[in-house]
Amino acid sequence: MINNDKKTILELFNQPEKHPSAVKLFAKLQKQNKIITLENLHEILNSLEKSEKIESLLDATGQKRYHLKAEKHCHFICSECGLVKNIELENGAINMLTSYVQEKIRTFAKIEKINLSFEGKCFECLKNK
Ligand SMILES: [Zn+2]
Ligand SMILES: [Zn+2]
Repeated sequence: MINNDKKTILELFNQPEKHPSAVKLFAKLQKQNKIITLENLHEILNSLEKSEKIESLLDATGQKRYHLKAEKHCHFICSECGLVKNIELENGAINMLTSYVQEKIRTFAKIEKINLSFEGKCFECLKNK
């Protein structure tokens, strides 16, 4: 049962909204008449995150947003509407930054995970000001 739910939830990530929050995912599941509690959903998301199928990041309001674990990419986050967009960087750009930072902290730590995001306002939000 849980495995089926996992599959259903992973499929939700193949939709235009690539960085849903748990609440968004929950609403989508309800639309599909999937019976699952919010608690269950959180459990599944945690386990998907642990098995490195998905990753989470915090948006400008501190809400957790999930995305499929993909190649290294960073994010643009709109501080008004919470839009989260992947920014694909040329090969090596993140690696370059990572080795630069790794060099700075080499005496006391090793980087295992990168969570890079840029915050601002999307044009939609700027237009509606
Ligand atoms: Zn916006
Ligand atoms: Zn992403």
